[in-house]
Formats: sequence, structure tokens, C-alpha cells
Amino acid sequence: MKALSDFSLVELERRLAAWGCKTSHARRLLLEYYAGAGDVDWGRLKLPQRLKERLSSECVMLGSAVAMRQVADDGTIKLLLTLVDGKAVESVVMPAYQEDRVAGCVSSQVGCAMACDFCATTQSGFERNLSAGEMVEQFLHLRREAKAAGRRLQTVVFMGMGEPMLNLENVLEAARRMAGEAMGALGWRQITVSTVGIVPGIEAMTEADLNINLAVSLHAPDDATRAKLIPSGRRFGVEEILAAAGRYQAKQGRPVSIQYCLLGGVNDSVEHARQLAALLAGRRMHVNLLHYNPTGASLSGRTYESSSTAAADAFIAELRARGIIAHFRRSRGRGIDAACGQLRYRMAGAS
Ligand code: SF4
Repeated sequence: MKALSDFSLVELERRLAAWGCKTSHARRLLLEYYAGAGDVDWGRLKLPQRLKERLSSECVMLGSAVAMRQVADDGTIKLLLTLVDGKAVESVVMPAYQEDRVAGCVSSQVGCAMACDFCATTQSGFERNLSAGEMVEQFLHLRREAKAAGRRLQTVVFMGMGEPMLNLENVLEAARRMAGEAMGALGWRQITVSTVGIVPGIEAMTEADLNINLAVSLHAPDDATRAKLIPSGRRFGVEEILAAAGRYQAKQGRPVSIQYCLLGGVNDSVEHARQLAALLAGRRMHVNLLHYNPTGASLSGRTYESSSTAAADAFIAELRARGIIAHFRRSRGRGIDAACGQLRYRMAGAS
């Protein structure tokens, strides 16, 4: 049975027409559904009885369900959602800087094929792409969590499980439904798609021209270090990735953010910071530094550690001294399985 999240506005209008109902009900229904975080207040939304009956016999509100929920001391909430085929994905909602807002993080695939060595998601391999509706449902669950906490879901980043560029068509359709005025009404600039640097995906996003943000997970300033951390780094070099990101930035007119996870003794030396600054010189991109959340032994059998405070401070100071705009992203979710993939991995009995 289809969930309401599976429909674009045009698809729902077509379905209503096939049922012999007025297509104008589709817009009102979807607005109510998204405003209600995946639920419809039938008392407020007046629809013909015949349409309500068709909807309840042929559609469900949500196809996914919360299987597990973890809450950290800082208010971060991590959800494990089960999908219609029994697969599971993770979504996270984190307190934002403003007290009345939260930021959401959604997954784009079940598992991941990219095999980044420091990542828990990839340890169980790739299973399948998520549909646009399944990504929309994560957004709705997170909006529901935000509402329950008296807050507003302000931003969404596709930075959970999976590589969004390898499921880009569905990711962009989900973004349209989340952002568009007729549906989620989140706003285009509130959405960010993050990639480990799949150049054809960045080019396709440039072509799509949706006015959403791009984040590139670089994690190393040179191809050799990067290839050890991210096997896909062998396919696309850092120069090629940044050139593609630069074209996206030029088209959108807003800085691309460079994500850089500091791993103790791996990519966190002052020399690495100098190389990164040289690489980004003149590009007007911003650097987001991340503290690593340890996930145990990696695919290659290595155990990564987060950088020491002294190394992290020296790294950011070097970047700033060289004119690069850089910030630390606040570390969230201490005390829960905060790194992407950990909760699902735990449910599967792997840890
Ligand atoms: S870091 Fe992202 S792209 Fe890399 S394996 Fe994990 S989920 Fe996949």
C-alpha cells in the first residue's frame, strides 16, 4: 500500500483524478499532511467523504515506523526507522544554536558502498537506495520530534547513511518535497546535500539548479592520505572534486562547505592544515571541522581516534592564519551511538 509521502503533488493530482475527485484537493491534503508531520487533522481538513474513504483504503500516512530512539544529554535524538521491507535507516535531530530550532540529518541509502574506512555505516555494506518517499518520511519523523520538543525543524542535511550522489534523482525529488511551498515548505536554502566527492553527482546537482547547499567531505588535503580514508578518493582527486564544487558554488552564489573530520595522527597535523589552506586559497569555501566519534575497529582493522584538543586547536589556528574561514561543528550526541550507522549496526546484532 502506498504512503502519502510517496506522492509528488502532480502524482497525487493524477491519482485523485483517477478516483473521480477534484484535483485541487491534492494540494490542500499535502499541505496539511506535511504541516502535521505525517498526519492529517481530518476535523480541520474538510474533504469529501468519498475521497477520505479511498485514501484510507488505498494509502497509509507513513510506511516507516520508529523502531528505536536514543536521546543524548545534549538533546540530540537518534531514530532508527524500519521501512516497509524491514530494512532500517537512521535519522538524527540535533538542537540548533537558536533555542527554538533543531537541525535534522537524514539517510539516502540503506548501508553504503563507499567503504570509508572510519565509518560504521559501510561495515554492513550497501543494501539499497531509499525512495524519495522514504527520505521524506525521515523528515516527517524529525519534524514530529521537533514539534514534541516545542521546537521547529529548521534545516535538513543529507549526511546520514549512504552517499547521496549515488541516489541523486531520489534525493533531489525528496528535497523538492521537503522544500517546496506546496509540501514541506522548509525552504531551499535550508537543505544541504553532502558528498564524499562524486564528481558526476556534483555536476548533475549543478545542472539541476535547485538552490540547495553543497557540502564536500574532504577529510584530507592530498590524494594519498585521502585514498586510505576514502577508497573513492582514488577515482576522483581532490583538485577535480574542488573544481566541480567551485562550479556549483559559482552557479549558486553561496559558499560550498568543506567537511573535514580530524583523526588523531592521520590528517590533523599543522602541515595538513597548511596543505588544506593552500588547496582552498582563493576558492571562498568554508571549512567545517568535525570531531571524530570513535566507532571501534575499521574495515581495514585500524582503530581511529579523535584528535587531541591541542592538535585540533593548532589545526584551526593554522587555517585561520592563512585566511580560511573555519569552524568546529559542535560535537553532538555523546553517550548515544552518534556516528552514522552505529545504531543500525547495533540492532543487527553486530556489536
Ligand atoms: S562516510 Fe558516508 S559515504 Fe563514507 S561510507 Fe560512511 S555513509 Fe558512506
